[in-house]
Formats: sequence, C-alpha cells, structure tokens
Amino acid sequence: MRDDTDFHGQAVLITGGASGIGWAAARAFAQRGARVAIADLTEEAATSRASELGPTHRGVGGDVSDEAAVDRMIHATVEAFGRLDVLINCAGLPDTFTPTIEQTGAHWQRLIDVHLTGTFLMAKRAAVEMMRHHHGVILNISSIAGTHALPRRNAYTAAKHGVIGLTKALACDWAQDGIRVNAVAPGYILTPFIEGLIAQGKLDPKVIRRRTPLGELLPPEEVANAMIFLASPLARTVTGTVVTVDGGYTAFGSPNDAAIIED
Ligand code: NAP
Repeated sequence: MRDDTDFHGQAVLITGGASGIGWAAARAFAQRGARVAIADLTEEAATSRASELGPTHRGVGGDVSDEAAVDRMIHATVEAFGRLDVLINCAGLPDTFTPTIEQTGAHWQRLIDVHLTGTFLMAKRAAVEMMRHHHGVILNISSIAGTHALPRRNAYTAAKHGVIGLTKALACDWAQDGIRVNAVAPGYILTPFIEGLIAQGKLDPKVIRRRTPLGELLPPEEVANAMIFLASPLARTVTGTVVTVDGGYTAFGSPNDAAIIED
C-alpha cells in the first residue's frame, strides 16, 4: 500500500531550518525520505545542521529579506537536488515588547522585511522552479499574532496577519499551476525563540499554560506533523488555508483560566 507521507524523490527547502520549528520540520521530512536543504541566516549554522541530517542533505546561508540571497538559496537547492517540491518559510525573529511610541521605523521595517517580505520573496522565486514540474507546496508560518493582537508587538502582529493574506492570494494565483500554498499558525512552541523570551522575563510559561486549553507549551515536532500532512497528497485539495497548532489557545474565549495547572 502507498504511504502518502513518504517524501522519497522530493526536495524540500526550509528557511530558518537550523533552529526550532524549522529544524523539527527538517528532521521530519528527512525521516520520510526527502532531500532537505536547510537555509538559515548563517551558512555555518545551516551546513552544520545539514550534516547532522546526513550526506544527502544540504545547508545554505542567506537572509530571506535579501532578494539576491533568496535567488542564491533557491538556485543552490535546485542545483543540488535537480528540483524543488516543498518550500517551508520558517525564518523569523521575535519582536522586542518595546512601548509602541518608543519603537523605531527601522525596528518595524526589519520585522516586516524578514517575516512578510522574506516569505513573499522566497515563495515567488520557488514558484518558478515548481511551475517547471507543475508540482509544489509552499508552507508559510503565521502565529496567534496572525489573527489576534499582541500589544507592543506591532510589527510582528502586522507581519503575521500579512502572511495569512499573502498565503490566500498566492494559493488562488497558483492553484492552476499545481502549487498549493497554506499557512501554519503555531501557538506557544518551545523553541529557542520562546525560550529566549521566557529567559528575558517577557513571557511567563505558567501563565501561557493556564491560558492554553491543552495546558502545555507545545514541542516543535507537533508543528512539523501538521506540515507533513499539508505537504502530502492527503492534503491534495487543501490550499489557501491556515492550520492552527496551538493547543486550543485561539479557540478559548472565557475570562477564566483554560487549564488547571499544578504549581
Ligand atoms: P527560532 O528557533 O529562533 O528559529 C528561527 C530561525 O530563523 C533561526 O535559525 C534564525 O537564525 C533564522 N532567521 C532569523 N532571521 C532570518 C533571516 N532574515 N533569514 C534567514 N533566517 C533567519 O524560532 P522558531 O520558534 O522556530 O520560529 C520559526 C517561525 O515560527 C518564526 O517565523 C516565528 O515567528 C514562528 N512562530 C514561532 C512560534 C513559537 O512559539 N516558537 C509561534 C508562532 C510562530 P538566527 O538564530 O541566526 O537568528
């Protein structure tokens, strides 16, 4: 019987693939037979992670907000694997929680450039390769901040709302080209991104667990599981949508705690 989550023969490019959700995705796709290109800000981080996966995988450095670097990353992937089937846009950085009136234009621009413009540039360039085979899947990363407000995290909230709009527009544009485009909206996932905010005292894990119906911060592998489904033929008719992986966080609206947490 055919296994729909077998990715042998497919090439997967993951930005932000050296850490957190991207790294979990890299392992999940490699375990299922894909050849994985890990793209990350530094070449060193990317190639080191790729060698952890094994000799059939590649690492490539570059900033997703730089169009020339985007071109190099996609070109290197296609040169190594001969094709590109799946693009996962995981590159990202946290907002700073600075009071809004003290936030600079440069701060705003950097967050928008990496999360929103980077997603656009990577998708646009990847689609050229996918159209050659009339086959491709693009997965973008939104957030709770893609549908709900996170005060003081203005640029992050705007970028993640924008990622959902961009996902829908690209999905409709490229449906006839054999390319599906979806977003994943993770809740609070235990990665270096969130661990850093906890260490800085900007997030309280106990408060998050109380506010989350499942009562936990989720491991990045749970997000990777949703990506495997979305990239597989099981999701053949799923495009232009957002799959939420947040333990019920955005479904919950009561003024009381969502979960009972032992201290
Ligand atoms: P992470 O562990 O910090 O990984 C992000 C990776 O992206 C890092 O390796 C980082 O490199 C890289 N990166 C940053 N800027 C880049 C750029 N301009 N070009 C290329 N790579 C860049 O974070 P994560 O938690 O896995 O987050 C991945 C994505 O999920 C982000 O878009 C984030 O907003 C989103 N997300 C995360 C959560 C969560 O709870 N963790 C929830 C919702 C959404 P450096 O380490 O060198 O900066």
